[in-house]
Amino acid sequence: MPTPARVRADACPGVFAPHDAADGPLARVRLPGGAVSAAQLRALAECAEACGDGDLHLTSRGNVQLRGVTRPGLAARLTDAGLLPSPSHERVRNVLASPLSGLRGGLADVRGLAAALDVRLCATPELASLPGRFLFAFDDGRGDVAGEGADVCWRALDADEGTLLLAGGDTGRLVARADAVATLAEVALEFLRVRGSAWRVAELDDPAWRGAPVRWLPAEIPAGLIERDSGLAAAVKPRFGQLSAVEARALAEYGPALVTPWKSVVLPDVPADVFARLGFGGAELGTSACIGRPGCAKSRADVRADAVFRPGLRAHFSGCERRCGKPSQSHVDVVAEAGGYRIDGRWVPLDEMEGNL
Ligand code: SF4
Repeated sequence: MPTPARVRADACPGVFAPHDAADGPLARVRLPGGAVSAAQLRALAECAEACGDGDLHLTSRGNVQLRGVTRPGLAARLTDAGLLPSPSHERVRNVLASPLSGLRGGLADVRGLAAALDVRLCATPELASLPGRFLFAFDDGRGDVAGEGADVCWRALDADEGTLLLAGGDTGRLVARADAVATLAEVALEFLRVRGSAWRVAELDDPAWRGAPVRWLPAEIPAGLIERDSGLAAAVKPRFGQLSAVEARALAEYGPALVTPWKSVVLPDVPADVFARLGFGGAELGTSACIGRPGCAKSRADVRADAVFRPGLRAHFSGCERRCGKPSQSHVDVVAEAGGYRIDGRWVPLDEMEGNL
């Protein structure tokens, strides 16, 4: 059922419109398709040290956030690194793409489509007014990013043709791969014409914006060492998606990278001992958490200190009911309350958490 259109102003943070968090201004840097060159990764590490809290915080849309941005110079540094190609469009460059595309599996190679859409978005003045939550996706047919809640998604059916999804529903409209970028941009322009106060496609009442519901099967989420069609890739998963500047520079030693919507970083070309060399990011971490206290004033607890890690456990800890950064895959929902947590709605005191997860 469509949700009511929102009346609040669009508060999605960017670099020029940071969010005022309890630990200082929070700036979000968009990385269309999650793609970041080694030089850009180093530049982000420098930004984190020079302007923020020293860490890169990966997001569930494959972007990067800098927290505690209390010192000046961030926009100039990002512009120099090519990470702010259009100040007017910075918050609308929200594009997912299957991170393993062209490396292993998938029906089509979607590499390059996110970058092409980014160029098109930035060259279209009207699209600067898209809501900051509007999300595009290119799924190479494996169904990994198609289930991540994009407003408009091209999903490959074979190497040259795909189908158009709106708010996760399949419209049945066939679109050639060669037309995918233009089609997604056209859909966004049409959304702007009809949206009224809606922020997302799912908020539109018009049935023309609905597709047939899709039952998403669990897709392969990249983890650990990955055998490519030739060679090896790796999905590096830092705890809570938080990378220190030193760790980011260590990743940059392996060339270009892809930030995934699962708060990991795919390195397309690595040696077999990459995790031993890195010394982090190789463990299978099924637990995630919002920033919690003290970074967020709404949080009832230091959720990252309370989080429980165990092999096989997929849980998301939240400091309040907003559940920021929760994964779209099935997981145990853990929300803070005074003195404990609600685990999938069931109250559990703090000292009994371990035994109840
Ligand atoms: S879920 Fe609540 S406590 Fe956690 S970051 Fe979001 S608003 Fe803050």
